[in-house]
Amino acid sequence: MALIEIDKQYTILAVDDAKDTLMLLDFDLTSEGYQVKTVTSGEQALALIANDPNSAESNFNTENHSNVDLILLDLYMPSMSGLATLKALKSDANTRYIPVIMLSASNDEDEIVAALELGADDYVTKPYIAKVLLARIKTSLRLMTKTKELEALAKTDFLTNINNRASFYDLSLKAISQCKRNQQNLVIVMFDIDFFKQVNDDFGHDVGDKVLVEFAKILSSSFRDYDVVARIGGEEFAVCMPNTSLNNAIIVCDRFRIEVANYQVIIEDSSQESLSITVSAGVASKLFDQTDGQLSVDDLLKNADQMLYHAKDNGRNIVYSENSFDEITPMLSESYLDNDVTTDVSSSTTSNMSSHEERDNSSPSDGDFPGIDSSVGLANVLNDEALFKEILVLFYQDHSHDGDKLKDAFITADLKAAKHVAHTLKGVACSVGAMKLFERTKELDYAINVSEFEQFEVLFEQGVLPELLKVLAGIKQQLNDQL
Ligand code: GH3
Ligand code: MG
Ligand code: MG
Repeated sequence: MALIEIDKQYTILAVDDAKDTLMLLDFDLTSEGYQVKTVTSGEQALALIANDPNSAESNFNTENHSNVDLILLDLYMPSMSGLATLKALKSDANTRYIPVIMLSASNDEDEIVAALELGADDYVTKPYIAKVLLARIKTSLRLMTKTKELEALAKTDFLTNINNRASFYDLSLKAISQCKRNQQNLVIVMFDIDFFKQVNDDFGHDVGDKVLVEFAKILSSSFRDYDVVARIGGEEFAVCMPNTSLNNAIIVCDRFRIEVANYQVIIEDSSQESLSITVSAGVASKLFDQTDGQLSVDDLLKNADQMLYHAKDNGRNIVYSENSFDEITPMLSESYLDNDVTTDVSSSTTSNMSSHEERDNSSPSDGDFPGIDSSVGLANVLNDEALFKEILVLFYQDHSHDGDKLKDAFITADLKAAKHVAHTLKGVACSVGAMKLFERTKELDYAINVSEFEQFEVLFEQGVLPELLKVLAGIKQQLNDQL
């Protein structure tokens, strides 16, 4: 985030229909070290600022986009008056913050009062006294700089110097409204450092802080300038990516995830002792159009948070997106027993579940099954590998419709059927070594037993179903010829 630049050369725009005044101003201001632009009407002034190369609308990260730092504005001009020009400047969010000093030929108090009420910072009467004008310009610039500093501070996270939560909401809202206008896709990502509490516990709070600062630096440099990067909680960060497809966002997030995992934070300068961390990410994406009235930053953040929850649940150090399981759902839910070879199904699962291979402690190599701890399953059949595979084939055939069965049971409020399916699935999951599926089904089974209806949907949709689909897809991938 650009804070205040020290020793910067300020640019002053002088607006006056009298060319001799402009020449004098140009001379006096240039001698004082200012960069000077001159125009002879209000219309020209507005056009010059609007065409400013810095005023690109797509940049959500700066407030005052203009290169002009202060405007000297004549009150009396033949076409557009000084007051009308001032009004236009103050009603545009991009120019509202530029200080304006009015130049007036007379001492017409009413006009001056009107200008001050419209937001002019000061006024100087013509013919002006150079010393006085220069002093007033200096004061206005100082005030503007201080105001900007305070505004920047209010938007900045004190530890990492990137946007804070409030600023993230503000800038993301602007990004969303532009995506609505242009019917573009927008992505919001939530990042949460894995086991960060452990960093504090092992190395102390100061080292924890250092990790946060360095993490924020990598985050800022990994995303584009017009992405909004923020710290939104203790060890939680968010990025808003306007005009970005979900797939591209996943690629960038995954690159960042790997960069973080490979990064060494130096704990002790003298000994070069270092530590490394990993990060989990949840990605939410939305294609906007003008009719998307009410969808807020909060809704997208909530969605990203849910994905983050899955990322944590699936072993951390992973990017999880809202369609990480969507792509395998159609194949499996329409016909779980479809016998076609769909080799690309598992590869697209892998790409969507980014660091798939790093998720489980037992990383699946050839012969391994995602979501299944083979050592547990094999131990249950006395390490008879052929028998284990036979059991997995049976599991696939007997349980690939369990998702639909559970859903139907909930829709028809058939608790007895739901209980039967969940109970059986729980037992079988445990015996084949599908331990996460076992845990998720156990939670659902418990909720059914104690009739916690409101829990069903979330435990099923976000727990049992994705885990079941993952296990089934893995078996299909490995044992397709036996199914
Ligand atoms: P998980 O992988 O599930 O995210 O585990 P975690 O330990 O990262 O998550 P948890 O929410 O249990 O702990 C977050 C920790 O972040 C606890 C808190 O002390 C620490 N923390 C929050 N803000 C700051 C901060 O500003 N500085 C430091 N050093 N630590 C912080
Ligand atoms: Mg956290
Ligand atoms: Mg954490």
